[in-house]
Amino acid sequence: TSFEMSGLRPHILDNIKRSGYTKPTAIQKYSIPVVLQGRDLMSCAQTGSGKTAAFMLPIIHDLLTNKNPPNTENNSAHPIVVIMSPTRELAIQIAEQGQKFAYNSTVKVAVIYGGTSTNHQRGKILGGCHILVATPGRLKDFVNRGCVSFSSLKYFVLDEADRMLDMGFLGEVEEMLSHQSMPATGERKTLMFSATFPEEIQELAGKFLHNYIFLAV
Ligand code: AMP
Repeated sequence: TSFEMSGLRPHILDNIKRSGYTKPTAIQKYSIPVVLQGRDLMSCAQTGSGKTAAFMLPIIHDLLTNKNPPNTENNSAHPIVVIMSPTRELAIQIAEQGQKFAYNSTVKVAVIYGGTSTNHQRGKILGGCHILVATPGRLKDFVNRGCVSFSSLKYFVLDEADRMLDMGFLGEVEEMLSHQSMPATGERKTLMFSATFPEEIQELAGKFLHNYIFLAV
């Protein structure tokens, strides 16, 4: 198997090469077609398995295929993709990978996290962003203040769901997924990644994923 066989656009294949990846990891090999087909996904995968590229590559493929300018109506960012990540460090890493795969394209990636002033992050996302990577507290804060709206959302990605649970963030996750601006389950596409699959995460998947593919690698 190769990235060339995945059906990803040539521009993305170039950026994959530039990243030094020569061949997909197992999770990438199985996830990329599922996401390209527009299915919801629950994937059990460890950090280090290459899960970030597993969702980032097919999502960026879609964004390049179905071009949408970033919408910043009513002083609010309307990302097409939201990725929730439990820690600032992980969020930054995910955004950096997203920027690499979107290199030399119109796709804009932004990251927001707590522990730092909101003004700079707010200015950045209002400059237009397709892909927003966010930690739970800061996302909730921005959504409640109206600086982020889910009204244009096509993909919601939950990264490290079991760590979200351990860190006590499942309330924020459910609140975002149930927000009034959030497209309904089955309308948006939802992708969840978790190293383990405890009961709470099974319940979350049952509630917010639609007719999903389960992958364990
Ligand atoms: P992740 O599991 O997404 O945190 O990725 C773990 C590390 O593996 C990151 O440093 C990635 O840049 C790297 N990586 C992901 N996919 C590949 C690949 N197909 N070939 C080589 N390195 C990869």
